[in-house]
Amino acid sequence: MRKIGHFVTGIHVEGKSGRFGNIYNPSTGEKLAEVSIANREEVNNAVSQAKEHQQEWAQINPQNRARVFTEFVRLVNKEKKALAELLSSEHGKIVADSLGDIQRGIEVMEFVCGAPHLLKGEFNSNVGSGIDMYSLRQPLGVVAGITPFNFPAMIPLWKLGPALACGNAFILKPSEKDPSVPMRLAELMIEAGLPKGVFNVINGDKEAVDALLEHPDVSAIGFVGSTPIARYVYSQACANGKRAQCFGGAKNHMVIMPDADIEQAANALIGAAYGSAGERCMAISVAVPVGQKTAEALREKLIPKIEKLTIGTAVDEAADYGPVISKEHLEKIRGYIDIGIEEGADLIVDGRDFRLNGYENGYYMGSCLFDNVTTRMRIYKEEIFGPVLCITRADNYEDAVNIVNGCDFGNGTSIYTRDGDTARDFSSRIMIGMVGINVPIPVPLAYYSFGGWKASSFGDLNQHGPDSIRFYSRLKTITSRWPHGKKEQAAFTLPVMD
Ligand code: NAD
Repeated sequence: MRKIGHFVTGIHVEGKSGRFGNIYNPSTGEKLAEVSIANREEVNNAVSQAKEHQQEWAQINPQNRARVFTEFVRLVNKEKKALAELLSSEHGKIVADSLGDIQRGIEVMEFVCGAPHLLKGEFNSNVGSGIDMYSLRQPLGVVAGITPFNFPAMIPLWKLGPALACGNAFILKPSEKDPSVPMRLAELMIEAGLPKGVFNVINGDKEAVDALLEHPDVSAIGFVGSTPIARYVYSQACANGKRAQCFGGAKNHMVIMPDADIEQAANALIGAAYGSAGERCMAISVAVPVGQKTAEALREKLIPKIEKLTIGTAVDEAADYGPVISKEHLEKIRGYIDIGIEEGADLIVDGRDFRLNGYENGYYMGSCLFDNVTTRMRIYKEEIFGPVLCITRADNYEDAVNIVNGCDFGNGTSIYTRDGDTARDFSSRIMIGMVGINVPIPVPLAYYSFGGWKASSFGDLNQHGPDSIRFYSRLKTITSRWPHGKKEQAAFTLPVMD
């Protein structure tokens, strides 16, 4: 059985804790590998290695740091297909989708190739007589990223790129469910020229996370995962005096106005709700048609499209989506369907009994559609993270806005309309971090920042784009005078510039 250890100081190291997690192929249910679950001592060792090598990296000028990223991007692109297949084998998303996962990560690495520009400070000359004032962006030291199973390439790269660009050393604690791609990315970083020890990968669970949260040499924590864990990590990191940004779960709504192109909206919904088996933090899980006529038209369009969806293995090129991550998660999603029925929602497409011939041990979930879901139901309020779409009908536009704004989560939302006035009003009043106008999954590009509001995010700076540079660096402001002419006398009042 393949064993996955940790990656520290540029080499693979065996786990010492004696604890292991199992890695499965969700398409077949077959066990692929065992991953070491780190103990506190192993985490401490990775942090001390990172601390030892951080200064060496910080001394490399930003242009040369960027050259390492350029080479890394070239190497990742060269083996993108193989990486995508590896990713799919542990995650279960179809290979075309894994290619997108990697691509969105690469784009952040391309963004940080602009490190010399991104790290520019500010300068004012002669703010007072002979006095200049300037600010510098400096690294924090050792920083850590804790990432979820659903984007095992993209999210580690979203953390890693900006953290390294700013001159930090970085510890990654990827999801214990699909760690092979992050481990390969670490190897490629070394191949690209990153000094050893600057980027270490520690595999593990709560024990490793707690060790990072409590380690005095870890200055910042970037977390992505479910809301309860995001809330926990944020509170612990803050209590221990660390900088933290913690991104949580989601419940994303698409509002469909009566004037929308219903065919276009339905197509967008199908991809956004069922793509990647609904295991995306930006998946649309609630459709909010405005008015009964819109709701009926949407429902009629959706049903045949959902029934035609092809579910297959992650390597099936004809599949629209593959299995979910684990047997436990499959049971949890099925459980939500039972809950929805008990709560009185109308299950109009029932995918619970779907089985893929020849792959009976795989974790496949058929597509489900609920209608007449109210905002009091658990299937509305809780993140299901599976191929399940709920229709929550709104009487009018104001009602739709209130539904979206009343939701505890605030990651993404979108509106389908032909009316610019409505779209503009929606984007201004809606209390959600990322908004799409006739765009179903409005994930910002690498040079903008990504982040939700409310229970989808804890902390005040977002991922990638300019915010990521602010998060992974700290500002120092210098006031400098080179005396000339007369000697200064002692001053006892607060200095003000003449
Ligand atoms: P998860 O919260 O179970 O795990 C995330 C990370 O936290 C993993 O590395 C895991 O090992 C660690 N962890 C798990 N339990 C822990 C505990 N008790 N204490 C400390 N650490 C713990 O999330 P997941 O199932 O891997 O990922 C899916 C979730 O991530 C969904 O809720 C999804 O919406 C969310 N997500 C959010 C974003 C975003 O940007 N907002 C992006 C992707 C995924």
